[in-house]
Amino acid sequence: MIGDTHIHSSFSGDSEADPEEVIRKAVTEGLPEICFTDHVDWDFPEEGVVFDIDFPEYFRVLGELREKYKEQVRVLIGVELGMQPHLGRRYTDLLMKYPFDYTIGSQHLVDMRDPYYPETFEGKTDREVFRRYFEETLENVQRFHNFDSMGHLDYIVRYGRQNRRAYHSRDYAEIIDEILKLLVKHNIALELNTAGLRKQMGAPNPHPDILRRYRYLGGTLVTVGSDSHKPYSLGFAFDTAKDILKNCGFTHYVYYQRHNPEFVKL
Ligand SMILES: [Zn+2]
Ligand SMILES: [Zn+2]
Repeated sequence: MIGDTHIHSSFSGDSEADPEEVIRKAVTEGLPEICFTDHVDWDFPEEGVVFDIDFPEYFRVLGELREKYKEQVRVLIGVELGMQPHLGRRYTDLLMKYPFDYTIGSQHLVDMRDPYYPETFEGKTDREVFRRYFEETLENVQRFHNFDSMGHLDYIVRYGRQNRRAYHSRDYAEIIDEILKLLVKHNIALELNTAGLRKQMGAPNPHPDILRRYRYLGGTLVTVGSDSHKPYSLGFAFDTAKDILKNCGFTHYVYYQRHNPEFVKL
């Protein structure tokens, strides 16, 4: 059984999941570890949307739950940072200040817009928006790479108007390669995020071709997360994830404790 290291709770602006309920679900499912990775997306451009966390409260509540359930499941405390070019220093300060186990770096924006809204694609082809998304991801990783795992690398394809039919990772191979090389260079893991499977996209994020390429370029660190915002989707399709990872040449997945990778055989 693979642990789930990408989980949101009511500490995220877009989730109402009670953390204790999440933990109980993890125990029922027999997950060996879970990591809460609530959203910090400072300066999010959409009006009325705030992705910030009351950190003292976050560590107090999750710390107590970790202790309460320690015989049943390993509870880890992490964060998902939404990357933007000007936020690197502030994120670095944040990571120094609190004892996180794990940090996910994620690109949630393209051209300062949330791709969740169809306007982001107006007047453009999916390919143009996808390309821009990968370029911005590369720029961000060049500037800020103080995180443990790269979240859902081709997240943008979830929102394409033609969905997966318009998406072939090889169309962006030269940019994606640069991103992957930087991850390998800085010892950053690549996440297999199963939300793409849950959303009927036919593939996780990123696409297995990208996971395979990361392995080929020397990457050995892979993390697995459901990106669940509700307890029911904890560990979603992790059997499929396991098969995909093995197929891509990985022998272990990792989870992080105080930013140190623990290798677990697949
Ligand atoms: Zn995300
Ligand atoms: Zn997430």
